[in-house]
Amino acid sequence: MTDTRADMDQIATELLHLRRAELAKGDPVPLPITLAAMYHLPGDPAGARGYGRMDNPTWDGLEHALGHLEGATAIAFPSGMAAIAAAFFAVVRAGDKVIIPADGYYTTRLLADRFLKPLGVVVEERLTPAMAEGGFAGVRMVFLETPSNPGLDLCDIAGISEAAHAAGALVVVDNTTMTPYGQRPLDLGADLVAAADTKAPSGHSDVLMGHVTGRDADLMARVRDWRKISGAIPGPFEAWVTHRGLETLELRFSRMCASAAEVAARLQAHPKVRLVRYPGLPGDPGHNLCQSQMSTGGFLIGLTLDSEARAERFITGCAALQPATSFGGVHSSAERRARWGDAVAPGFVRLSVGIEPVAVLWDALRASLDDA
Ligand SMILES: *Cc1c(COP(=O)(O)O)cnc(C)c1O
Repeated sequence: MTDTRADMDQIATELLHLRRAELAKGDPVPLPITLAAMYHLPGDPAGARGYGRMDNPTWDGLEHALGHLEGATAIAFPSGMAAIAAAFFAVVRAGDKVIIPADGYYTTRLLADRFLKPLGVVVEERLTPAMAEGGFAGVRMVFLETPSNPGLDLCDIAGISEAAHAAGALVVVDNTTMTPYGQRPLDLGADLVAAADTKAPSGHSDVLMGHVTGRDADLMARVRDWRKISGAIPGPFEAWVTHRGLETLELRFSRMCASAAEVAARLQAHPKVRLVRYPGLPGDPGHNLCQSQMSTGGFLIGLTLDSEARAERFITGCAALQPATSFGGVHSSAERRARWGDAVAPGFVRLSVGIEPVAVLWDALRASLDDA
């Protein structure tokens, strides 16, 4: 796996002390929440906070932390989809062609179908493992999601970025399933990252948030302009909750991924499980790429049982699983993705491993599988 562990440990440590340099004696150590539509603004408004749709000190705190994690400029959005929409609307124009994953987050495809196509954007879908096939001639933007949700297929971010750039295309990566601790798309050559902080970064399933990061000043100015003008702004309280979550992300993410690796191996050996998808498992179709571009196999596992009924019994019969959509929370959760129409087997379950001590979690999962 990529040797960014030591760097990320350094970054995780700095993250907890980022505000230190700004504090005056007597200031609160945690990030304050500022609720403000108006700022005191006599005379020339240049250089000062002007209005609540443009600026907020709590967003600044969150963006400072997110930007530090990715070594880039970060702009916060009120959901993952708001961030993804911002990446598209900041870049594409009528007549442009974009490539999106056919097997990624469903709502990204809806956005492309219902809002980009009618504006004259040409949308091509490719399966994640086949993203590079057909090349990128005439393409304006390649949008990747790796590992893809829910199938957990991978594509080569560095290789695709190189080929896309050579053809004049920009690369955007939805990094939701990995977080910056698991995968660093900007370091691999991507131009923008868009991600849902609703998932592991906030981590407690109590808030929606998203962000876009990038290192190109002009591109990020367009993303910021989109937020200011479209009004897709985060609430200060939600920004604060997300910032609080980020401070424990490294701890939660390491536990979740370590547990997921163990659970995936045990699931693979369970007689009721037909197929396990986990990029950290040797033999998984994504394993080699996982080793070259991810620091861990992640906390999501795809497992297929032999029927819808068995999968439902496994999910609802397990005392240590929340039957819920979404993922990345402290509590393990699972759902059958076919219930939303995803192109997966009826018995396919997306399992999000939480922070429960793994021996107890496994006992609960195994007991429910045995009975399913
Ligand atoms: C959840 C998710 C999103 C959307 O995030 P919201 O906060 O629900 O808008 C986007 N991409 C992926 C891969 C996701 O899992």
